Amino acid sequence: MSNPPLLSASATASRFDEMVPTLTKDQVARVAAHGHMRRVARGEVLAEAGERVARFFVVITGQLEVVRGSGASEELIVVYGPGMFAGEVNLLSGRRGFARVRVSEAGEVIEVDRDQLLALVQTDSELSDILMRAFILRRVELIAHGFGDVVVIGSSHCAGTLRVKEFLTRNGHPYSYIDLDHETGVQELLDRFHVGVEDVPVLICRGEAVLRDPTNQQIADCLGFNEAIDQTHVRDLVIIGAGPAGLASAVYGASEGLDVLVLESNAPGGQAGSSSKIENYLGFPTGVSGQELAARAYTQAQKFGAQLLIAKGGKRLACDRKPYAVEMDDGPRVPARTIILATGAEYRRLPLANLSQFEGAGIYYGATFVESQLCRGEEVIVVGGGNSAGQAAVFLSQTARRVHLLVRSDGLSETMSRYLIRRIEESPTIVFRPQTEIVALEGNGHLESVRWRNHQTGEDETRAISHVFVMAGAVPNTSWLNGCVALDAKGFIKTGPDLSQEDLAAAQWPLARPPHLLETSLPGVFAVGDVRGGSLKRVASAVGEGSIAVAFVHQVLHE
Ligand SMILES: Cc1cc2nc3c(=O)[nH]c(=O)nc-3n(C[C@H](O)[C@H](O)[C@H](O)COP(=O)(O)OP(=O)(O)OC[C@H]3O[C@@H](n4cnc5c(N)ncnc54)[C@H](O)[C@@H]3O)c2cc1C
Repeated sequence: MSNPPLLSASATASRFDEMVPTLTKDQVARVAAHGHMRRVARGEVLAEAGERVARFFVVITGQLEVVRGSGASEELIVVYGPGMFAGEVNLLSGRRGFARVRVSEAGEVIEVDRDQLLALVQTDSELSDILMRAFILRRVELIAHGFGDVVVIGSSHCAGTLRVKEFLTRNGHPYSYIDLDHETGVQELLDRFHVGVEDVPVLICRGEAVLRDPTNQQIADCLGFNEAIDQTHVRDLVIIGAGPAGLASAVYGASEGLDVLVLESNAPGGQAGSSSKIENYLGFPTGVSGQELAARAYTQAQKFGAQLLIAKGGKRLACDRKPYAVEMDDGPRVPARTIILATGAEYRRLPLANLSQFEGAGIYYGATFVESQLCRGEEVIVVGGGNSAGQAAVFLSQTARRVHLLVRSDGLSETMSRYLIRRIEESPTIVFRPQTEIVALEGNGHLESVRWRNHQTGEDETRAISHVFVMAGAVPNTSWLNGCVALDAKGFIKTGPDLSQEDLAAAQWPLARPPHLLETSLPGVFAVGDVRGGSLKRVASAVGEGSIAVAFVHQVLHE
């Protein structure tokens, strides 16, 4: 194998020193205190691709190489000399490794098991900085090169392909993608795995299993996302939902010593994960993508020892006895001393087959300054008859050429505040279209035209409009709670001072104290973020509530 490593100071333009740092003697000694020294022979395999990553190695003398593939197709990824260390973020989660770590020059290494590594990064802030940065940058590099254990074969016109790609991306899992529409020689590959074009998206998992149009859960199972996690012991805190609120609870809970498990029905990040740029979150003056914010929070939660079950949704809450238990889509009941419900909300979506194709590319669920700049001087549509739609129409009318406000009902008087109705009536830019709804969207990559139907006249009209703001209300993810906690009229969870005496009497609140802030009508069960009645529906408030709730969790655990 004479080729140079794929990752080297010359091949990797920037940040190679941070990705492959050399520890000082003093730093090596601090690592050594958490592990043991061992001699290694040339050719010895220290970690095999596809095995759960359980050990961390620092080179003292000799050299390690990281390779993927085997035989003639073996590729050298990177070489570690004295003072350097092997490993990436899989070490934190205990998931399977993507490559083989082999001794290329005999010598000595320090071997540290995964629990000790977690203890090290939690207690030694200097080493934590160096190791975490290197692990994250290595993962970024793996993703950029598609150095994963997954091949996705699909088509960019297929919603299933987008879902699978999004699931892998939002879980930070590297993969390579073969597009049926653009790449030649795909048929050969399909034949090799006995799959047809009609089966796309097809996912080839670790070179072995072939999944045809798999669910997210099947992907998570095949890649072993959850296998290192014990799902049966009683946890101090179980968090349902890994959006900003749930991830904040996980970081605070785990960093304060609680045994934390998070259940996420899809992938970390929640609604925020679908935002291309969040510009109003404190500390990010140039904005941060929801994906990046979520990935960082996810790694941070794991660093402190929180565990996250991916593609495992809460299906039922067993609240009739303590400890409470959360029943999942499949798998065992997860017992919990306290629970934080952070399942968020989903914006009501228009019932159009190709809607998801244009979400973020002409279909928006918020009308902030950023969106208003996208459609400056253009015609836009706002869908909805509530105050949020009214505010959006008025706001957008300041920059757009024309705003069409579409509602299915006859008028706005029953759903919108009077002051907003007056502003809409007085605005020369806003055209109010009652009894009208969108029936078709068209475009190539980005929305290009919209067809709406006026139910009064029965006529359809197609307009070249590229921006639609859907403000048709948010639906909370609470249907699975089977009456365990009090909800408001719209299905959001009531907490703290919002719970009336009647609510508490109906729930048979058993304690002398009233519910804590953010506590539901079930003692020790909290609700945070968008799923909570009266919440602000912002990333910052979700993160704030997720953090605050942990303080009350401690109080309940000491009651
Ligand atoms: C496109 C878009 C752009 C946005 N931009 C901004 C912005 O720029 N600034 C801003 O402040 N806010 C923005 N928001 C709003 C912000 O994203 C939300 O307020 C925030 O994400 C709420 O966080 P959350 O954790 O409460 O809920 P969510 O983000 O909704 O997360 C809930 C999580 O729970 C999971 N879940 C649901 N049910 C279950 C179950 N039964 N079991 C397990 N898991 C479950 C979901 O899969 C999800 O991951 C935006 C929202 C959208 C949709």
